[in-house]
This record gives sequence, C-alpha cells and structure tokens, in this order.
Amino acid sequence: MKLLQASVCLISLILVLPSIFAASSSEDFDFFYFVQQWPGSYCDTQKSCCYPTSGKPAADFGIHGLWPNYKDGTYPSNCDATKPFDSSTISDLVSSMKRNWPTLACPSGSGEAFWEHEWEKHGTCSQSVINQHEYFQTSLGLKQKTNLLGALTKAGINPDGNSYSLESIRGSIKASTGFTPWIECNRDGSGNSQLYQVYLCVDRSASGLIECPVFPHGKCGAQIEFPSF
Ligand code: 5GP
Ligand code: 5GP
Repeated sequence: MKLLQASVCLISLILVLPSIFAASSSEDFDFFYFVQQWPGSYCDTQKSCCYPTSGKPAADFGIHGLWPNYKDGTYPSNCDATKPFDSSTISDLVSSMKRNWPTLACPSGSGEAFWEHEWEKHGTCSQSVINQHEYFQTSLGLKQKTNLLGALTKAGINPDGNSYSLESIRGSIKASTGFTPWIECNRDGSGNSQLYQVYLCVDRSASGLIECPVFPHGKCGAQIEFPSF
C-alpha cells in the first residue's frame, strides 16, 4: 500500500513539474514599449555606424524592439534561455525584416544578430502572450500602422538637418497615431541634441496602442535636430 501511495505521489509530481517550469519561464509584464530608431541619428554620432550587408536602408524609421515593461518603470529581461532565436520560425518575415528592422551596428551584419538580441533579451519575456513568430510579426505590423515618417512629414517636419520643436514632433505623432509618444534624443558629431528614438506603448495582449502608463527617463532640448539619412 505504501509503495502504491509513493508511486502515485511520484507520478503526480512528474506530471505537475513541467507546468511549474513553464509558468516561471514566461514572466508577466504590464505593457510594451514599441521603439523605433531614426537611422540618420544612429549614424551621424561620433561612433558612426555600418550599413547592413544588404545595403543602405531606406530613409525611414526602423524598428529597434518591442519591450515588455512594468508599470513601475522596471522591466524583465532574458526570461527564457530554453527558447533561443530560431530564424527558421520567421523565414516568411525575413525579407520584410531586412527592410523594416535593419541593423546599423558595426561590423555590418544581415540583421540576425540584432533580431536575436531583441528576441532573447525582450521577446522571451512576452511568451505568455506571443510566440517568436508573433513577436516579429506584431512588430512589423506596428511599424506599418504607426508610420512615423508619414506623421512627421505631414506636419512639415522633414529629415533635412533642420531643428524642430520637441512639442511639434510630439504633437504631430499624437495627431496621427492618436497616442502620445516619448522622444529620446542623442547627440550628433558636433554635440547637438537630435531625434533618435520614438517610443509608443502597446497593451499587454499586443493588440494595439495605448497611452503609456509610465515614460522612460531622459531629456531632449526644446528644439532638436532631425538629420537626413
Ligand atoms: P539605454 O541604456 O541605451 O537607454 O538602453 C539600453 C537597452 O536597455 C535598451 O536598448 C533596451 O534593451 C533596454 N532598456 C532601456 N530602457 C528600457 C525600458 O524602459 N524598458 C525596457 N523594457 N527596456 C529598456
Ligand atoms: P539594446 O540596446 O536593445 O539592449 O541592445 C541593442 C543591441 O543590438 C546592442 O548590442 C547593439 O550593438 C545591437 N544592435 C545591432 N544593430 C543595432 C541597431 O541598428 N540599433 C541599435 N540600437 N542596436 C543595434
């Protein structure tokens, strides 16, 4: 009888254990930041940049990443080493990723190292909601839907090396997407503050934009440069 009880116990444990591990490998979070970068501002810094092996990207915003975040401003990262980046799961998306998620880091690469980094650091923390294919597909859809360059140029804000007010940049993106963006600046080779990245927030089921529960930190000038690319 004891032996029977012990085996029932052991079998239940074996059945329950995997679900405990599955639950802890995909951490929870409150919302996403969807972050896009202006290539001109990545490249005109002191550090400079390298074009991808497929050639110079279009003069358009590129995806940086889709980042799960907590409402208190902190965020989970590198949540699941058992789910490495696997390009075979996104073979149908790769040509669109090369255009919309180009890498500008040196040395030149195809983009895979950048996508791998974003999936492993951020994407693995979103698996309670989206899998690897959905992570990249959702990001591509958001880029198309938000059309940042369209929003800015419609308001007369062009990547021409001139300076524009931060307020007009924020306002034009809000007018076009319906949501308030966070603008991150960096400095060009001469030290001028310029439009580097745009953050928009996405609800935790990755179905659409929301107003950001919390903004990142950092500061731009009141007037910032929008460099050409
Ligand atoms: P940096 O220190 O250059 O602002 O950010 C370095 C990296 O840390 C980012 O590319 C991103 O991977 C991560 N990171 C920075 N700030 C945030 C944030 O507010 N939320 C999340 N989820 N990741 C962030
Ligand atoms: P994060 O800042 O998202 O944690 O890390 C970005 C990582 O991706 C860095 O290691 C950076 O070198 C690499 N990377 C590759 N291509 C790009 C790019 O085009 N933009 C940015 N921001 N990082 C890139």
